[in-house]
Amino acid sequence: MILEKGKTFKVCSTCINFLIKETDGNRKFYCGRLGYETKPYYSFNCWDPIPKVKKLLEKRKREGRL
Ligand code: SF4
Repeated sequence: MILEKGKTFKVCSTCINFLIKETDGNRKFYCGRLGYETKPYYSFNCWDPIPKVKKLLEKRKREGRL
């Protein structure tokens, strides 16, 4: 999981569609759903959290922290 300091966890890097491709030492980030290049810290409404983050969100909701 890649997060930039101070940002919310609702970002591309915690989305099920986030892909990392590495060629010749260059790392690029893509959205597998839309097919575009993205950045780990970009935030969009199409966000679909990975299971680990989904569980965290549910836990926070139960605890009234959301
Ligand atoms: S652009 Fe939307 S669907 Fe694609 S990785 Fe980012 S949040 Fe997920």
